[in-house]
Amino acid sequence: MKTKFIFITGGVLSSLGKGLAAASIGALLEARGLRVTFQKLDPYINVDPGTMNPFQHGEVFVTDDGTETDLDLGHYERFTNAKLGKKHNYTSGRIYYSVISKERRGDYLGGTVQVIPHVTDEIKQAILQLEGEADIAIIEIGGTVGDIEGLPFLEAIRQLRGNLGKENTLYVHVTYVPHIKTAGELKTKPTQHSVKELRSIGIQPDILLCRSEMPLSSGIKSKIALFCDVREDRVITAKDVKCIYEVPMRFHEEALDERVVEALNIWTRVPILTLWEDFIARARQPQYKVRIVMVGKYVGLTESYKSLNESLFHGGVANSAEVDIDFVNSEEMRGKALEDRLSMADGVLVPGGFGSRGIAGKLEAITYARENKIPFLGICLGMQLAVIEFARNVAGLHMADSTEFAPSTPDPVIYLMRQWYDYQTGRVEKRDEGSDLGGTMRLGAYPCKFIASTKASAAYNNAAEVFERHRHRYEFNNEYKERMEKAGMLFSGLSPNKELVEIAELPDHPWFLGCQFHPEFKSRPLDPHPLFVAFIQAALAKRLGP
Ligand code: GLN
Repeated sequence: MKTKFIFITGGVLSSLGKGLAAASIGALLEARGLRVTFQKLDPYINVDPGTMNPFQHGEVFVTDDGTETDLDLGHYERFTNAKLGKKHNYTSGRIYYSVISKERRGDYLGGTVQVIPHVTDEIKQAILQLEGEADIAIIEIGGTVGDIEGLPFLEAIRQLRGNLGKENTLYVHVTYVPHIKTAGELKTKPTQHSVKELRSIGIQPDILLCRSEMPLSSGIKSKIALFCDVREDRVITAKDVKCIYEVPMRFHEEALDERVVEALNIWTRVPILTLWEDFIARARQPQYKVRIVMVGKYVGLTESYKSLNESLFHGGVANSAEVDIDFVNSEEMRGKALEDRLSMADGVLVPGGFGSRGIAGKLEAITYARENKIPFLGICLGMQLAVIEFARNVAGLHMADSTEFAPSTPDPVIYLMRQWYDYQTGRVEKRDEGSDLGGTMRLGAYPCKFIASTKASAAYNNAAEVFERHRHRYEFNNEYKERMEKAGMLFSGLSPNKELVEIAELPDHPWFLGCQFHPEFKSRPLDPHPLFVAFIQAALAKRLGP
């Protein structure tokens, strides 16, 4: 089948859940037996989200090929089997960068370079790369209709209907229908305005997804249909849900998937949603509760740890447990106050991070978890800090540190590795302190092998080799390996050539494990990540006692 394109835009206000809507449509189409892929087009000027502050923009999601992407790609991958990467996330910055480079090279032969057609052509090319990759490509335009930055993207998708035809393109607009308490009714005006705005650009939406606190009555639907010139059965309620994984089923109840395949003129089987239904049923009726204290920096905005929160939830459902996450800001909380919070923990988690702020508090939390035998999971920076803590307090290297925070430490247990074989590029990589910040990270999927009979190998069910996603510069320094092992730390996950330490654990602790990679990027509701399942299981065992 020739690839068909679904374009998702948003109106009225941001944070309506366009990404989740796109992911859920993907899930429903997959459940009907179609192959789906996605692309996120972000109107901001940054060339990629890699350098953006997660506190402002939410988490940076990393794909297998090592692309630093928008967190919506996380939703797409969690809801479907799509394999995403560099081709699946573009920003205005990246598009302009390419246009300007072409101009400098003289590719435009002296012509005047303009938004239309040059920028819009570049956008169309980016979108059309997905042709052949799947039956359906779901393209989400970031931002809100009416934003200045978004215009070239909207113009590009407008043109694509003309290029590809009506049966191969579908415009889905996500809007908001507020409930005004004093009037006691749902108001359709914001949706009317948003559609008017979209139509002024030349796009007539085919389907409206109306976010609302309550179901839209047929009266409201027919009013929206009339004013927006959208068929009434294509005005879909997108009611608020407790759990995001319910969205595909709620959409299905509104016949959204039926309307999509009908509009695109595709014949498919009815969707098989049993796995989703089972997951929701289990998620709704947890038998246990566990409390995980997460000691981090960007705790003010849960979006900055999006995948992590989801992974803990998946691990919880796999153990029939509701996971209560207690966020602790390690910059603000120390000493006794921190211990009081940790004393209520069934598990302690130290997530990834950059820079020296908040490090001391994280180290205190790790000491507490180690000494009090509380299950501990350290991710990336969290693993590096677990190594530093152990080096200082157990292995007798009192000044041990990472050269990231203490460039002249006498014992750099975590440091910049000068040279190593890179499984991602298939080359020997070299770097030094002066290397350009952007280019020196270990990014994307790398293989990891296990030492038998360890917590790591048990968690992964004795798998021979796994691939996990990385995003960091610093590594464990093998010069300290023997000394750390003698003191009782076990390096249970290594790169196949044994050069890179990927997992460190403590055998004489109920469950204490740090991983150099980010397992949260690979956890799915229907395929929870083994480390989160094992961590929650250990936390549950601690809570329930012997
Ligand atoms: N700052 C550390 C490094 O660059 C850890 C990064 C992370 O946690 N993602 O190695």
